[in-house]
Amino acid sequence: MSAGVQIERVQEQMRRLKLMRTAEELPLLLQQASKDEQAYSDFLEELVSRELAAKHDRLTTMKTTMARFPFHKTLESFDFKFQPSLEPKVIKELATGRFIADADNVLLLGPPGVGKTHLAVGLGLKACASGYRTTFTTASGLIASLVKAHQENRLEEKLKLLVQPKLLIIDEIGYLPIERLGANLFFQLVSRRYERGSILITSNQSLAGWGAVFGDQVIATAILDRLLHHSTILNIKGESYRLKEKRKAGLLTRSEPYTTAGVESPAPATEA
Ligand code: ADP
Ligand code: MG
Repeated sequence: MSAGVQIERVQEQMRRLKLMRTAEELPLLLQQASKDEQAYSDFLEELVSRELAAKHDRLTTMKTTMARFPFHKTLESFDFKFQPSLEPKVIKELATGRFIADADNVLLLGPPGVGKTHLAVGLGLKACASGYRTTFTTASGLIASLVKAHQENRLEEKLKLLVQPKLLIIDEIGYLPIERLGANLFFQLVSRRYERGSILITSNQSLAGWGAVFGDQVIATAILDRLLHHSTILNIKGESYRLKEKRKAGLLTRSEPYTTAGVESPAPATEA
């Protein structure tokens, strides 16, 4: 029997074992091995580690798709020089995923455009690569879905689902006021996840402003009490990155007021 036929048969067996990358690369790897006079053990190790790497990539892709990020921006593409109020080593520590293993929380606070969502997605992508089940949602979307579940008598089911991901990212708390029922349901979610799973929140409001956001100081305090117990708080200051880009393009001049209420208000039409 020719070597070619045998290799094809082995490839077929590998496919049945779901060793897809190995099956695909086998002919090339065999050629290379005989050319380099590789030891059997080295050849085997290379084969196995390539298959493991492929499996890791597949799982990461699956977790990333399931997370439903609004865009894919990485921590590597974040310009820390533009954001001196942010210590790169704190983000690096968060990127290790230890806070997720410990079920700790993260709060990213700061005005619009300073990179909160970018960092939240970047950390979420790292979490997916570390194998953590992750869910990205906006505060308004999350609260609307909780209210709907409550009205349809399936709140318990919904809360159970929302406790599953090891990292729950809630973007944009504070852009829209939250009704009493929504605030109450949000509190229930935070209580359920307390010390069980991490929450990463971004907010354009300082924590002192959460009473107004949730329309009730008592409930805001109860939410913060649980969130902050084990948490990292990052206060990002400074200028909007979006506006910097516009200024660079000559669309804004220094004299234009870029920190007025108009620009800081939620999602102004000029923001892309
Ligand atoms: P926020 O959520 O704080 O309003 P975003 O994360 O949406 O801000 O950032 C606005 C835009 O600017 C995004 O396209 C983001 O990728 C980019 N951006 C913000 N800060 C930085 C930075 N330091 N380095 C690179 N891109 C940045
Ligand atoms: Mg944002």
